[in-house]
Amino acid sequence: MTEKGKISCDECVNELMPVARKVGFDTAWDRYEAQLPQCGFGLLGVCCKLCWKGPCRVNPLGDGPDRGVCGADVHTIVARNLIRGIAAGAAAHSDHGRHIAKTLLEISEGHAPDYTIKDENKLYKAAEKVNVSVQGKSVNQIAKEVAKATLEDFSRQDEGIPCVWLDKTVPASRMEKLSRAGVAPHNIDAVVADIMARTHVGTDADPVNLLLAGLKAALADYTGMYLATELSDALFGTPQPVVTAANLGVIKENAVNIAVNGHNPLLSEFICDVALELKDEAVKAGATEGINIIGVCCTGNEVLMRRGIPTATNYLSQELPMLTGAVDAMVVDVQCIMPSLGKLQECFHTELITTMNSCKIPGAKHIEFHAATAAESARKIVRMGIEAYKRRDPGKVNIPQRSSTVAGGFSAEAIITALEGLDAQDPLKPLVDNIVNGNIQGVTLFAGCNTTKVTQDMAYITIAKELAKKNVLLLATGCGAGAFAKAGLMTMEATESFAGESLKAVLTAIGKAAGLSGPLPLVLHMGSCVDNTRAVSLATALANKIGVDLDKLPVVASAPECMSEKAVAIGTWAVTLGFPTHLGVVPQVLGSSVVTDVLTNKLKDITGGYFIVETDPTAAAAKLYNAIKQRRQELGI
Ligand code: SF4
Ligand code: SF4
Repeated sequence: MTEKGKISCDECVNELMPVARKVGFDTAWDRYEAQLPQCGFGLLGVCCKLCWKGPCRVNPLGDGPDRGVCGADVHTIVARNLIRGIAAGAAAHSDHGRHIAKTLLEISEGHAPDYTIKDENKLYKAAEKVNVSVQGKSVNQIAKEVAKATLEDFSRQDEGIPCVWLDKTVPASRMEKLSRAGVAPHNIDAVVADIMARTHVGTDADPVNLLLAGLKAALADYTGMYLATELSDALFGTPQPVVTAANLGVIKENAVNIAVNGHNPLLSEFICDVALELKDEAVKAGATEGINIIGVCCTGNEVLMRRGIPTATNYLSQELPMLTGAVDAMVVDVQCIMPSLGKLQECFHTELITTMNSCKIPGAKHIEFHAATAAESARKIVRMGIEAYKRRDPGKVNIPQRSSTVAGGFSAEAIITALEGLDAQDPLKPLVDNIVNGNIQGVTLFAGCNTTKVTQDMAYITIAKELAKKNVLLLATGCGAGAFAKAGLMTMEATESFAGESLKAVLTAIGKAAGLSGPLPLVLHMGSCVDNTRAVSLATALANKIGVDLDKLPVVASAPECMSEKAVAIGTWAVTLGFPTHLGVVPQVLGSSVVTDVLTNKLKDITGGYFIVETDPTAAAAKLYNAIKQRRQELGI
């Protein structure tokens, strides 16, 4: 639900809109207005363009044709559209994961000399998951075998063997359920290809069969995400608590500001290193404060979690940093990068630099990233930023002086480490005990994007405050985490202000036992959107400890501003793993009563999970809390 006339809760957005007008640039919000009214057929998911006899539009209200030219009915059309989106999401996430795994292989073979494996313990844990023995082997040998075993999840031809990164990361009872339902993927790429094949004109027309294939593709998405996160941790370090800041006030007038935008940490890690190395060159160019790296979107989350790099903003407001006139370079990798940045950079001195072959933007300069020459590319990019700084027009600089403190870095390992302060032998016990005794009513993971369809960040903030009041532990990733970071909800002060009494007491006990001066933050930052699997690893540990499957836990998920195909895939695997999952934006499936019924109702019988669609944030919080209460009742706690 949009607050009338308000496009964002982030005041920086309002502050910079006049600048956009002044330079004659239409922002995402302006472009959204220009699209209104959006097509009702598209919104219901009933438009088909799968072949050139179309586009065919079926009117689900019975007023007009009830089938496409080929005879496909509305249920077939909606289901096909939906699962193509899931497949695209799985392709995006798993391609990110493949890139990380291939880089690990290159490192182990000596072809990527700039990289080191920063967290050997995480590598050993990965080895255990993919059945690689570490006994008597060098780190490089283990890395090679882990990378090869991981890449098998992209190439296995035996349909009877499930992807190892799925099999070893969910409770055994869940895995049995998934295998019985025939939705456990054996090969990420094959499952994505299967969706493209079965949705070709004249192939699968059964909406339920199509949706089952969609669940499988969603689990392929999960698999790709899980391995991406775990191997990134091995390469760059597993996040530990770190304090930094969020919002445009992190941009420094007297520094060369370089924004990293996108999702993949493979290059951004080096940009952070090189920024320190080339500081003197920046100072010589007149930037007295050296080089200031800032994050945008999920590359921002990656470097925030591991290095405490401040974050400038989340997805929807990614045009804002350039509008400050003080960003000298924006380096992008893949996913959720607005093509509009190519046009916007023409209004300023900013260098927009693309780095991946799969993501080029008209107007940007391209410096192709290769693992073999990562540091060299990073140096070239940072020097472009320094050169651009020399061209910066001080008359155009307009940095909103707004930022909030952020305590981030809460990987599952970091949470367990904090819990060890209360019980070193059995760290999960205090968490389980407090869930059982009701001090913590349940857990909500906030995930997903931003969208122009609602007031940016508003639903995240509203739902979180409602649930915190009711003593629900809150986790966040991706642009949801960005929303909370900007709003100051990732601080101990927010816990003091908004947490219910028993939640506050638990977060304070954990915080103090972990050596902090007060409670853990109200919302725990678990990373970028690819890191949603960190929350699953925590849930799986809890489920195994209690001795139940994931669909019995009082754990729910919420995507108040879901937008991308990746979010569609994530939401689908969340319900497939058994979590009630809230969507704050109406999914484009309502044209089919069959598809809608399966997703919100029948799926529960197969996986235990289901979608809750609610656009009103207060009502959504109530529904999520009810789902938690219901799970508690069923558990008898
Ligand atoms: S029905 Fe489909 S093709 Fe036609 S305008 Fe709407 S979205 Fe576009
Ligand atoms: S596949 Fe069928 S419904 Fe889709 S565009 Fe072609 S004829 Fe129309």
